[in-house]
Amino acid sequence: METFDAYKKQVVDTAQSLTRKGYLMATGGNLSVRLPGGNAFAITPSNFDYFKMTLQDVCVLDFNLNVLEGALKPSVESAMHAAIYQARADVNAVVHTHQVYASALALINSPIPTLFDEQARFLGRAVDIIPYAPSGTNFLAKTIAKHVKNHNNAFIMKNHGALIFGHDMERAEHNVEILEKSSLAYLLALCSDKPISKIPLAVREIAFAKLRKDQKKVEQGIMETGGE
Ligand SMILES: [Zn+2]
Repeated sequence: METFDAYKKQVVDTAQSLTRKGYLMATGGNLSVRLPGGNAFAITPSNFDYFKMTLQDVCVLDFNLNVLEGALKPSVESAMHAAIYQARADVNAVVHTHQVYASALALINSPIPTLFDEQARFLGRAVDIIPYAPSGTNFLAKTIAKHVKNHNNAFIMKNHGALIFGHDMERAEHNVEILEKSSLAYLLALCSDKPISKIPLAVREIAFAKLRKDQKKVEQGIMETGGE
């Protein structure tokens, strides 16, 4: 019985949509969604063309990375996804991209301060830089798990790319777009050499409090996560 088809479909549809929009390139990046019961996730296979991907190609893993469904090799970053789900009970979808503007900030080691209301509301207080660790290693998974505990929903991975969360896949996809818009605006502002204004601290805290309220609802199982 293919009980997880609705979730696998979210993985396929979102991977294709993000590729079409230019956030995923070729086979780069990976994405996953937490499955009902909370202790397993559906993730993109390793090195596989997103436009050729079908539901059968999506891998289902537990948090020890045992393959529960799927014949293909799971993403090399599966340990990172498992570590995030274990560190953040409010996160039900994880997207890792090599999106260009956020990646540019990774190269100049510039975290994004709170520039826009929607950024604070959905991505958190700031977009921090997670220190470099080689792809696919346990060291990377551990480094990431440590840094994501601040409740923010978007991070830049030094010399690598971006990491975006949502309480469901639709929110995660929207958050990818908010991150890229914020990254581009910030890069352009940096180029001007003029002082960069941030939103008022009080506004940031009100927006972040709304995000935290949503996250607590998800943790308690009150908020719909769009699984079916
Ligand atoms: Zn990557």
